[in-house]
Amino acid sequence: MGVVADESGSLQGTVAILRLAVPVPLRRLFDYLPPQGLGADDLRPGQRYLVPFGSRDLVAVLVEVVAESPLAELKPAGERIDRQPIFDTRSRQFLQWAADYYQAPVGELYAAALPVALRKGKPADHWAEQWLELTTEGKGLPETALARAKKQQELLQLLLKTNRQSRTALNARGLNAPVCKALVERKLARWVSGPTAPPPLEAVEPQPVPQLNDEQRQVIDAVPASGFSASLLEGTTGSGKTEVYLRLMARALNQGNQALLLVPEIGLTPQTLRRIAARFPDFRIAALHSGLADGERARAWLSAASGVADIVIGTRSAIFTPLPRLGVILIDEEHDGSFKQQDGVRYSARDLSVVLAKNADVPVLLGSATPSLESLHNALSGRYQHLRLRHRAGNARPPEISVVPTLHQPLQEGFAPQVLRHIGDTLNRGEQALVFINRRGYAPALTCDDCGWLADCPHCSAKLTLHRRSRHLRCHHCDYRMREVTSCPQCHSRNLNALGAGTERSEDFLTHSFRNFPVIRVDRDTTATKQALDKLLEPARNGEPCLLLGTQMLAKGHHLPKVTLVVIQDADGGLFSADFRAPERMGQLLEQVAGRAGRGDLPGHVLVQSRYPEHPLLQLLLNRGYGAFARQLMEERKIAQLPPMRAMALVRAECEEPRWAEEFLANARNYLEALAPSSPELQYLGPVPALLERKSGRYRFYIQITADRRGLLQQLLTRFCQWAEGNRNRRLRWAVDMDAQELS
Ligand code: ADP
Ligand code: ZN
Ligand code: ZN
Repeated sequence: MGVVADESGSLQGTVAILRLAVPVPLRRLFDYLPPQGLGADDLRPGQRYLVPFGSRDLVAVLVEVVAESPLAELKPAGERIDRQPIFDTRSRQFLQWAADYYQAPVGELYAAALPVALRKGKPADHWAEQWLELTTEGKGLPETALARAKKQQELLQLLLKTNRQSRTALNARGLNAPVCKALVERKLARWVSGPTAPPPLEAVEPQPVPQLNDEQRQVIDAVPASGFSASLLEGTTGSGKTEVYLRLMARALNQGNQALLLVPEIGLTPQTLRRIAARFPDFRIAALHSGLADGERARAWLSAASGVADIVIGTRSAIFTPLPRLGVILIDEEHDGSFKQQDGVRYSARDLSVVLAKNADVPVLLGSATPSLESLHNALSGRYQHLRLRHRAGNARPPEISVVPTLHQPLQEGFAPQVLRHIGDTLNRGEQALVFINRRGYAPALTCDDCGWLADCPHCSAKLTLHRRSRHLRCHHCDYRMREVTSCPQCHSRNLNALGAGTERSEDFLTHSFRNFPVIRVDRDTTATKQALDKLLEPARNGEPCLLLGTQMLAKGHHLPKVTLVVIQDADGGLFSADFRAPERMGQLLEQVAGRAGRGDLPGHVLVQSRYPEHPLLQLLLNRGYGAFARQLMEERKIAQLPPMRAMALVRAECEEPRWAEEFLANARNYLEALAPSSPELQYLGPVPALLERKSGRYRFYIQITADRRGLLQQLLTRFCQWAEGNRNRRLRWAVDMDAQELS
């Protein structure tokens, strides 16, 4: 075919067709004619266009300009949104790579890369900014000039150090309009317009920089300053990994490059930001987090994409931010599950960071006290450089861990008597204790003692959690809620019984038991915003004796030197799960929680309550630590031929009608097995129901495919997607989950 665009008349002989990534669930690009009035020179890949699609107008990204289209009839694109491309070449290649690897529609990936305001089509110019820069005359001045006008001198010194500053950043520093005007009137500085600067962060006092210890120095020296390299930093909790990240960032910044730091969802706290802002007062920091309003988030993103921001800190999706001067990538808590997206495009930002580092030819460092088996495997097999920090930084010593058997013991609300005694002693010594309970709400189940009724979610195969504070029964899977009942809906008996304990119930009990001390409960219900968490932890940071009680929100990142006792109320969660990754996650969580103890000068103790104190995995973890534990799990995965030894993907389907989902997957499996039969290199399992079989009213099934070679798995999944895109059953949803992390 090949009908060319010059038939439209507007291009006068120049053949130009726009090939665009449109945010629709189809795995291809779409061709359009350029908008009226634009010539070939106006068309630059990476710009956004508004295009008619069906009955709607969608924001699409120009991926290439081509000379021919296989389609006979092309519509013109509606409007060009950006004159300047907002995705550079490297980021476009990276997004295409990710789309191919995760079998995702590339248009959806571009949409995932963009902050909401830009996804909706707001022009980047909206955030253009005024910048103050020195004139030649200004640049010629010494730092000591303008000594008689302190503020003007401060401004001069800042500009001498940093070349230019945005109006917003100057305002945030208290260098306001009159001070700037004075310099401009003296012809020492001038205003120029330019791309946006990141939203200013809260001002902080610079902190003294600690002297690196030998281990830290060796780690930093081992990471090459330029060129691609991938390293795993396995460093015990409190060993100074963050200090290593800061130094590697500083190195990149001093080379004139950008640094990207990815943190887990609950790791991007005001505390983390303060620590970075305090270290780099003269650099521009863009924090990409969900707490930002849409406009501010777009500003942060654009400042990164235009190369204005020097440091970019963000959660998972920040991996897709274009960074034209990228110099180093750092992944904090690389084992954290939040780096893998669990719906839509199911990408892993952790895994993609290594691909991006390779594309950009820069070093990437994955850090954790409890590395994922995937990264550990890559390190042990030599694909990543394996770096260690074995000792805690400063004066802190590793905590002492003991198991408290709970089986033949009179427990009080789930606590053994000696555990309660320890908590009391700790508080009375003026120190802090932390109790970890991985379950929010009052109780995980409500039952009737007369007829056996159990409060189930009407939409999920799950029990409702009782939330006493808000007087609700809630489903933690679909967010269904109903008022708390006081009599049994089935037999009207009033003998209702709340089974088990969540954070609310333990809070009541501990508040009652330790009346003289504040009990601080930290879970998703008490910390709706990051600021709330920060505020809640304030007494703990101030060092007052207090009892912290909470879920895994307490397990990570917090550095509270006065916590000397950590209690893990129930360690048994991961021992008997059907998910092969459950023990790994349990080990990571326990080690991370335990790592909150004794991070300052005072020694730490960890008490772990368990019904199975002799369980070999628990013994291994508690006696020899996560490192030995993880290596043992690796041996088991080898025998079972599971990741990380083999590549694994799930093909998922869900539907209100369970038969349809199962049948769809059975057909899919037949189709795939006809292409590539089971063999020692390739195995199929399923369709089987997901661990949470029904969620939000839909029944969920999957096929698990494991293979020796990723390439083979990729080919099969590509064919599957082609096959499945023909599926006409609109009530059935399917998805490919490459490198799946959850079987739920
Ligand atoms: P991690 O990220 O490994 O948990 P951090 O980087 O938060 O550890 O360090 C733990 C504590 O030790 C922090 O208070 C930090 O300031 C301090 N620290 C880090 N490196 C050093 C060092 N070389 N000397 C003294 N203190 C240090
Ligand atoms: Zn009843
Ligand atoms: Zn539910």
